[in-house]
Amino acid sequence: MVFLWCHYTLGDIMNSPISIKTQALNLHLRSLKFTKHKRLACAYLALAIVPFVIAQLLGMEFTGVYSSVLGAVNLIAMMVFFMQFPLAGRLKYLPLFANIDWGITKHKQFGKYLGIFFFLHPILIVLPKGFISIDDLWLSIVSVVTSPNMLTGIIAWLTMAVWVLMSIYKDKLNLRYETWRLLHVIGFAIIATLATLHVTTIGSHGQFNHAFNITWWSLYCVSMALLIYNYFIKPRNIKKHPYAINALEKISECDWKLSIKSKTAQSLNYQAGQFVWINTSGNPYNLEQHPFSIVTASQQHKMISFIIRELGDYTSSLSQLELGATVYIDGPYGNMTLEQANLTRGITLIAGGAGIAPILGLLRQLAEQHDPRPIRLIYANHTLDRMVCLYELIALEQTMVDFKLKLVCEHIENNDLLSGRHLVKGFIDLQQIAASVTTQLETQWTFYVCGPESMLTATTGHFKQLGVANNQIHFEQLAF
Ligand SMILES: Cc1cc2nc3c(=O)[nH]c(=O)nc-3n(C[C@H](O)[C@H](O)[C@H](O)COP(=O)(O)OP(=O)(O)OC[C@H]3O[C@@H](n4cnc5c(N)ncnc54)[C@H](O)[C@@H]3O)c2cc1C
Repeated sequence: MVFLWCHYTLGDIMNSPISIKTQALNLHLRSLKFTKHKRLACAYLALAIVPFVIAQLLGMEFTGVYSSVLGAVNLIAMMVFFMQFPLAGRLKYLPLFANIDWGITKHKQFGKYLGIFFFLHPILIVLPKGFISIDDLWLSIVSVVTSPNMLTGIIAWLTMAVWVLMSIYKDKLNLRYETWRLLHVIGFAIIATLATLHVTTIGSHGQFNHAFNITWWSLYCVSMALLIYNYFIKPRNIKKHPYAINALEKISECDWKLSIKSKTAQSLNYQAGQFVWINTSGNPYNLEQHPFSIVTASQQHKMISFIIRELGDYTSSLSQLELGATVYIDGPYGNMTLEQANLTRGITLIAGGAGIAPILGLLRQLAEQHDPRPIRLIYANHTLDRMVCLYELIALEQTMVDFKLKLVCEHIENNDLLSGRHLVKGFIDLQQIAASVTTQLETQWTFYVCGPESMLTATTGHFKQLGVANNQIHFEQLAF
């Protein structure tokens, strides 16, 4: 086995046509594998068609191709709407909704599709009248708009349009994240109420067989129960397991290390790479909660630590926290754990800026386990002053069985002591990632990546060029 950390060239893996064909075939075969995400997607789709199946079991009549297809799509869209609640609901114990990264990504994605579909919903319903005559179309529109029965539907439709736009453009609204989140939850609870009233009073399936409405009312009750659980019951349980601030220190130009210790005998059962929502307000019901990754290896769970970068109003006011103050945590969550690399031959960790936190958790865990596999860390920052735990990382090269570190900085000062062996100028690029992998083992390697969105997008492109399959890559996004 030849290791090419320093001398590796891209040509070695990409030159020969045979190697390109073999890579393409391997990639194709691996993409056919039934990965965790594909299993989740299948389970999600199966659940999404439940109301349609119930309608068929209740013997819904065939009313023509257009209205039957539209009816089926309406049923699926309404079910997808209700599934938006558990997708963003921080549910640890239901496997379909426990993968929070997948859940939030799909919640955002389906939210946009639902916004477009529900916007078109009344248009699609009256459209066939337009094929008869313009007068029929006009009469239909007037009767929809003036019918008292349609009021709930019209308010739900308008509110939905505004709330979906507010979600898409949340970063452009001059609102605090917590205010936006509160408005988001209240708005969609109101939309769910109005939409359920609308489908149960106007919906063709409910009119055909009133028993069908039990489906919508049950889904509505479950969604509201979930909100009550998350905002009232869960905080009450969290209150029983308070933590206290044990240490707080500034560890770089813009990063803090926060350590908290359980005030009770109970300690947190987590895996390296996971994160928790932290609430330092002293009130477990307060909505000011922020997700941070645990940087402590999971064996040392009596006290847990976080590395927090100053990015906004909350993270820039950490210095105001007092030692001993009560902290509530909700978690652990997240799936970027070492379980994903159990069977792989080597691991490349890629961190940018604040993304070092979960990556450091994984690295410390690998060090604790005396993992014998080749482990590489590529850690990028704007400047060297923003790097954290540098001495620990350099020391790990000596103490771990096969660990190598590469630091990448956009700006390097002449007096940066580390220039040379560890430190390179620029951004994380294709060559650096390729060089971290042992040749011929590219398909048996696992990559963990955490950092800003621009870095995630760039590395995704590099992975594609290297022929790395999606199931070899594990991401953590630092924003929901
Ligand atoms: C899974 C996960 C793990 C994270 N781990 C770390 C870490 O270990 N270290 C670290 O420095 N940062 C981490 N972050 C980012 C950190 O949560 C945000 O930087 C922080 O919440 C910003 O809060 P603010 O009020 O200072 O900034 P703001 O300017 O209010 O927020 C900046 C952005 O952060 C996001 N954000 C803010 N509040 C929340 C919230 N309550 N829940 C979800 N997203 C929010 C929003 O996208 C917002 O646009 C993580 C984020 C996620 C999603």
